[in-house]
Formats: sequence, structure tokens, C-alpha cells
Amino acid sequence: MKTDKKRGQAFCQITQCPSPFFRLKHMRSSAASLHAGMTLLVFLLVSCNLLSFAQESPWDILNGRDKEIVNAFLEKAKPLITEKQEKGIAALLVFSELFKGLNEEDRIFLERVCLLSGMGSCTDIEIQLEGTSQKIKFIPIENQSFSKQNLPEKIPTQYLSENVFETYAKMMKRMEENIGTKLLVESGYRSPAYQLYLFLSFLPKHGYSLIENQRWNALPGKSEHGNPVRQAVDFISVNGVNGEENPEDFTALPEYQWLKQNAADFDFELSYPEESKDAVFEPWHWRCIKSQK
Ligand SMILES: [Zn+2]
Repeated sequence: MKTDKKRGQAFCQITQCPSPFFRLKHMRSSAASLHAGMTLLVFLLVSCNLLSFAQESPWDILNGRDKEIVNAFLEKAKPLITEKQEKGIAALLVFSELFKGLNEEDRIFLERVCLLSGMGSCTDIEIQLEGTSQKIKFIPIENQSFSKQNLPEKIPTQYLSENVFETYAKMMKRMEENIGTKLLVESGYRSPAYQLYLFLSFLPKHGYSLIENQRWNALPGKSEHGNPVRQAVDFISVNGVNGEENPEDFTALPEYQWLKQNAADFDFELSYPEESKDAVFEPWHWRCIKSQK
């Protein structure tokens, strides 16, 4: 399963140095104030140096206790996630479900991981539709299957917001009319809570390194799959080609060439194009930008 590969993405800074000049311009110009101002300036510069030093050593490889917490959490969450996956509703998981039954230490650890994403605390997405009191409505995409080497394979239920689903459906109708085939949604909306679970589930594979893991798996709040308004979609062909092992397999598809020429007419664009310097080329990952117009 793809969970958003992104390379070269710097860890967000949790702390920021306040500008000493902003503070100083509010001080009166008396000698006493000037002295106090200079003291404040020195204090802030020293603080900033210390913070800069701290920023050079980001939280990365988990220590022994944190590894135990992650392993225990994955064990605890497994039955819940399996049940949700079997019911096809894992992508809509919320934090209250994920946090249920966890102890204080587990919760604090998960909150620390959420903080890394810059989203603040672990928070669910609750976007009000513009001008209404209506919440985002998700459309389930069920019964999708592809045939790989003549073996049928079912795709778990995926979700797109109503708006994005309609755009996707229109685009696929046109693609089928033009080239006689369409693309399936391998991965649509993923809630921040589900993204957090996925992120942590890949940590052992990446040596419990938060930074290395983030090159391949997005933190909750960082993934375009977690934004139902500006939604990312990972496509897969009806023959099971998704480019995961070899992006060229996907770029060789007539479906990909069609997308390159026509997706803009349907408000879809490639998120991580080949020419992008700071992200891995992901020819299957397109985002709907309809809401931005
Ligand atoms: Zn993606």
C-alpha cells in the first residue's frame, strides 16, 4: 500500500525564535530601557543559538522505551484496524477510536508524533462546506477490482468527498470514451488518525527512524490523502499497474498519457512531477484542485 512517499522533506520546526527587533521597537528610548533592551537582545540571541543547536538534532531514532511504546501500540491497535479494514471503513478512522484503551504514556507519545507534522495535537478533519453547515460527505467506492496476471484482486473500499468523486467520475467517463479504458482509485481519502497508524506501522521497517520513515510515509496532516477538499488520488490500471515498483510501468500506460493531456480540464494535477527537485516522482498520485478555483 502506498502511504505517500516524499523524499528530502525537512522535518518541520517545532520552535521558532521570536524577532528581538519586534520586541525592541516597543520599548521607550530611555537609558534604562536601552539597557533592558540590550539585555533582552543578548538573552534572545543566546536563546536562539541554543534553539538552533537543538533544531540541528531533531527527534529521529526512537529510544528503547519509545520503541516499546510503538510495538505495544501496534499490537493493541491491530484488532481495531483489522476490523475496520475488513468493514472497509479504516480510512475514516477517528482519533477517539485510535486512542481508546491507551494509557497516558501511549497518548503522550502519539501526541508528540502528531506535533511533528505541524498540525498541533492529534485532531480529526472536520471541514464545513463553504456557506453551509454541512460537513464533508464521503462517497464510498466499493467493488473495485483489477486483474493481474489473470488473477482478480479486490481493492478495499476507498472514499472521496462528493465533490471530488463527481469530478473523478466525469474524468473517467471521458477517458473511457477516448481510449476505451479507465483508472481505478487505489487510495483516496485517509483520515489523519488512520495516517498516524500507517506512519507508525512502517516505523519498524525503517529502523524506528522518524526521519527515514517520513521519506516514504507522510505524517498525519502532511498527506494530501487527508485533505478531502484538495484530495489526492492514487490511480491503478485495470490490469493492476500502479507504478509502485517501477514508475516507468505507469508512465508507459496510455491512461497516464491521457491524464497528462486532459486532467487539467477536470481540475486534476500531478502532485509530484518528474521535474520536482524535492519529492520522488509519483506518476500515479494526482490531486483535485477544484476547490481552489
Ligand atoms: Zn498518494
